[in-house]
Amino acid sequence: MGLIPDETISEIRERADIVAVIGQHVELKKAGTNHKGLCPFHQEKSPSFSVNGDKGFYYCFGCQQKGDVFSFVMEYEGKSFVEAAESLAGQLGIMIPETGASSEQTAQRRSEKSQMLEVNKLATEFFRGQLAGADGEKGRKYLKERGIGQEQVEAFQLGYVPEKWQLLTDFLQARGVDLQVAERLGLLKRNKSNRYYDFFRDRLVCPIANTSGDIVGFSGRSLATGEAAEKAGGKYVNSPESAVYKKSKLLFGIYQARDAFRKAEHCILVEGNFDVIRLHEHGFRQTIAPLGTAFTDDQALRIKRLVGQAILLYDGDRAGRAATLKALQILLAQDVSVKIASLPNGEDPDSLIGREGPEALQQVLSRAQPAIEYFIHEVWVRADRSAEGRAKTLVEAAQVLRSISDPTQRDFAVGTLATALGVENATLRQGLRRALQNLREPRRSHQNPQQRHMDPQSQIGNNNREMAPKRPPPKPQLDIICILAEFPELLADAETQDVLSYLTDSRLRDMYTAAKEGKPMLSVTDDPGIAKALLSGAFSGVASPSHCLEEAANTLKYAQQMREMAKLQKQIEEANRRGDTELERQLIREIMLLRKQVD
Ligand SMILES: [Zn+2]
Repeated sequence: MGLIPDETISEIRERADIVAVIGQHVELKKAGTNHKGLCPFHQEKSPSFSVNGDKGFYYCFGCQQKGDVFSFVMEYEGKSFVEAAESLAGQLGIMIPETGASSEQTAQRRSEKSQMLEVNKLATEFFRGQLAGADGEKGRKYLKERGIGQEQVEAFQLGYVPEKWQLLTDFLQARGVDLQVAERLGLLKRNKSNRYYDFFRDRLVCPIANTSGDIVGFSGRSLATGEAAEKAGGKYVNSPESAVYKKSKLLFGIYQARDAFRKAEHCILVEGNFDVIRLHEHGFRQTIAPLGTAFTDDQALRIKRLVGQAILLYDGDRAGRAATLKALQILLAQDVSVKIASLPNGEDPDSLIGREGPEALQQVLSRAQPAIEYFIHEVWVRADRSAEGRAKTLVEAAQVLRSISDPTQRDFAVGTLATALGVENATLRQGLRRALQNLREPRRSHQNPQQRHMDPQSQIGNNNREMAPKRPPPKPQLDIICILAEFPELLADAETQDVLSYLTDSRLRDMYTAAKEGKPMLSVTDDPGIAKALLSGAFSGVASPSHCLEEAANTLKYAQQMREMAKLQKQIEEANRRGDTELERQLIREIMLLRKQVD
């Protein structure tokens, strides 16, 4: 659906009763010329949400949310303007003419959509009846085993269909349903002799609702075992795309989770439908899942409109982590604030609750990391130090980093990433700038997708020689000794700066200790080079010897921190090889702290 004519929008605005529309979701009481209720957009105990029916707008004195009937539907149901207009028009019986289509065609398409929703509703009733009925024992047993109680069976309208070929077909036919519509919805199939048969057989059926609660499709989990399971055609089967079922725009559980979003002020994203239901069962009712594995821009946009914050809780395996990184970038690109909750290796939300209870899951959620921290950790783990690998990481990093608005935070992330990738800050910055430039021209880069990967790669490739770790020059150590030989009164300063801890050369350490004991430094060295330097008086004429001392000490301190970081990095790699995720995380936290000091 494209443009909606202005006159249609005006008609909707005039005819929609904002008090009635909002009244479907919020209990409103008349107060003077207005209606008042508890604000649906923020948590409150006394009503500050006011609706003016005559003027057709709402306003909250608590959180300042305001708007008209369109914006209410958009905000509350997470819809786009067009979707909100369509939904309101549907309730009011107003026809939205489609651009380029006659009003008869439009009417036909509309009625087909509503017909489809009607058929899905009937099918849902049928599946639910089967689950509750005499043939539903297998389905009920399965739900019990998975720990899903009656409350969730009701909330998600779960159903079951036994191993029969024409139960639903007969049911729909008996109710005068046009079976072609059911076929288009994927509920029925046709065999070679053109006879209809049921698509879902011996499956637990999970209806998929849109934000308004309409059932738009189904997902069926096979309960077949042994040989039958092989013939069943997939553990999970889903409705095909149709006029009402658009997989990339839907999120499983969104209708059931809506109210919980407002309370929690975030959503939890998991991978599978049953994870959603299980988490709802244990009180995490703000949980939803994308349908299928890929997370889309449309889904991110929906989350942004509905709740604005997300915790990603994907499975603790390789596939889960890869999917997390992808979803993370899509969410950040849509300005959704994201945290990542990491499950132990090999664990999914369902299995964790099963073994350790909901408290363990609550802990995992409360330890969720901000997106940047998680991203850096992942970069570390995966850091492929080949030029190609770094180029790829740079493009990903650019996507994540451009979402950080705070320059200090951003600099910090750049520095940490540079350490992770083993490149100089400046090199990384340059590469990122290139990658960002390419990202900013999305349309053009589509024509030549090679280009955006080429640039940062050649950038990094040119700077390969910066990869070698820099050895700290021994000169600053000698400088310190020379300064102290010339200006013994600076010894106290040197002590405060803990200079001794930076002196790695044992001869110089001995000289420093001698000076502290009041002995002449030259008395403890037989190294002619050192003696010569001491006697050269190189620092005798400097304007500010204390400043020189500080500089030299800082240089040494920096070098030491670099060595420390390199050591930590080795330990991280080692921990990663051993699969000790906990230690690895801890070490990365340490290295990040150290990096903060260095900056
Ligand atoms: Zn409010």
